[in-house]
Amino acid sequence: MEEYNSKLKEIKTYAKENRVPIMEDDGIKYLTSFIFKHNIKSILEIGSAIGYSAIVMANVDPDIHITTIERDQDRYMLALKNIKNFELEDRITLIFGDALETKIDGEFDLVFIDAAKAQNMNFFNKFSNNLVKNGYIITDNMKFHGLVDKDETEIESRDLRQLVRKIKEYKVFLEESNDYYTDFVDVGDGLAISTRNDIE
Ligand code: SAM
Repeated sequence: MEEYNSKLKEIKTYAKENRVPIMEDDGIKYLTSFIFKHNIKSILEIGSAIGYSAIVMANVDPDIHITTIERDQDRYMLALKNIKNFELEDRITLIFGDALETKIDGEFDLVFIDAAKAQNMNFFNKFSNNLVKNGYIITDNMKFHGLVDKDETEIESRDLRQLVRKIKEYKVFLEESNDYYTDFVDVGDGLAISTRNDIE
């Protein structure tokens, strides 16, 4: 356990020093308890970055298998190295590519969306096809560092305003969905937890 914690700390330090966005501590804690509580065994992650969240999720239970997709080559290479360093190659399948152009076969208990925030709706629509009937879709960064609740006029950058608008649109899309019920959890950077409406 000590070795695990120290190796994980190295990844977190690297992420901080190199401005690689990884899940916040509270968010990952919540996510891992959720995975444990709901007996989740198969996970599809959109946005691996350097493998941090995949490694932590895999550590919840030795029967968990994760498929994770990353489009940035340097991050993908580093994720490969990190996953190997934790000897998780058998349980974490890392795919290099743009998730929106990657065909994924099979069904998963959980789809975890943590990639380009402006594309959340597209990821949701595409990968909901890979969800088991009573599965969950969890989306990170619904608060986007507090900017989603901020007055738009206070956000100086036009690109950032656009991005925040997209996240707000995604929130409305989830709220108004007839097919999915979504819980918005105020933990970490804000998580949205969606489940299909038609499960008994
Ligand atoms: N889940 C990671 C963690 O907590 O350790 C953090 C992921 S980071 C917030 C988002 C990552 O998604 C970035 O590394 C980015 O390159 C990747 N990404 C963005 N859009 C993507 C896409 N369309 N397909 C695959 N990866 C994408």
